[in-house]
Amino acid sequence: MKAHRTLLIKLPRDKCDIDYIKRLIALTNLAYRDFEVLVPDMFKSIQYQLYGSFSNYKNSLVFGTAPKRWLAKTWVPLKTLRIYSDDSMKGSIGAPVALDFRSNVIRLRQVCKNEPRYSIELPMPSWVIDRVKEGGDVKFARIGLKDGEPYLALTVEREVEPYQPSEYKLVVDVNSWRYGIACGLAKNGKLITWRTEKPDTFLINTLYYQAIDRERKTGKLKSLGYGNSAKVDKIKNQAQARRSRIYRITRDKAYFLASKLVKKALKYRASLVIDDMSEESRKELLEERLPPDVVKLLMSNLKRLVHQLETLAQWYGVPYEFRRLYSRKCPRCGHELTQEKGRVMVCENCGFKAPRDLVPIYWAVRLTP
Ligand SMILES: [Zn+2]
Repeated sequence: MKAHRTLLIKLPRDKCDIDYIKRLIALTNLAYRDFEVLVPDMFKSIQYQLYGSFSNYKNSLVFGTAPKRWLAKTWVPLKTLRIYSDDSMKGSIGAPVALDFRSNVIRLRQVCKNEPRYSIELPMPSWVIDRVKEGGDVKFARIGLKDGEPYLALTVEREVEPYQPSEYKLVVDVNSWRYGIACGLAKNGKLITWRTEKPDTFLINTLYYQAIDRERKTGKLKSLGYGNSAKVDKIKNQAQARRSRIYRITRDKAYFLASKLVKKALKYRASLVIDDMSEESRKELLEERLPPDVVKLLMSNLKRLVHQLETLAQWYGVPYEFRRLYSRKCPRCGHELTQEKGRVMVCENCGFKAPRDLVPIYWAVRLTP
């Protein structure tokens, strides 16, 4: 099985001609639609790439799906050359992206500016070195724009077979950041440890109310006719900064958690069971009459968490499966559970009692072999 991971590297803006990159993007868009256009004032070596062997990859997952709209922002596929420390090479000589592991630099030729022999050098990110050490190969690269800034995307490929799982099973129940992501480790069908993982919700709460406070203030100032003053702009920026910080906190937590859980699965050679119940959680939080923007924050980056869990599980060969698990049904007898104070679920039929976040984990332990 082939596993892929992608890294985005921001390119120095002053060394890139954004208009040139935009033209390359437009040509890529045409190439996706099987038009072969050769523009006379651009380097053929770059343009040929779009019509040669890359057409074999263009609809593969490596490059995402084909752009649906005309002139959608399609990243430009680039061939890579890899030069290793023992001077061995892989890829095509003269490729616009050269990864030199002897001096740990990445050279981009002719892709950032439409000038003869124009090239820029970037330091090799340690992320790339780590992936190569794990047996990965940087087969694909793309250049594109994200929020108007130039980026290079490197995609590493690794051939990996999932291991035979041991008697351990790691269950992850992705609900919302409010009560945390529930994780449990089971051995031979018995739950050994479990915990919930969440970011600093106190800090998130504080930042949220600070943002709200500032947004109210700007609203007030606007209604008094100070809408365009520097003061209003300053307060507006402060509010925005707080909201972005909350987003970053949950994003960092999502990445940290995915890595921690996959490492744990590797340590026990466990199989991984992922229950993505974020949609149900969203509905539940809305039913609790939480403001929609609070719900949005409590759900932010959960898709990223699930995606990263899957990406890392594939990359490290952790056998995994997605499974929908019950949270309101008794894992012992199947009877409906009733919720008591403190999020405790009780079965009136057989006497089963457990914290609510544990119920899906009991189900996972019971259901999967
Ligand atoms: Zn029961």
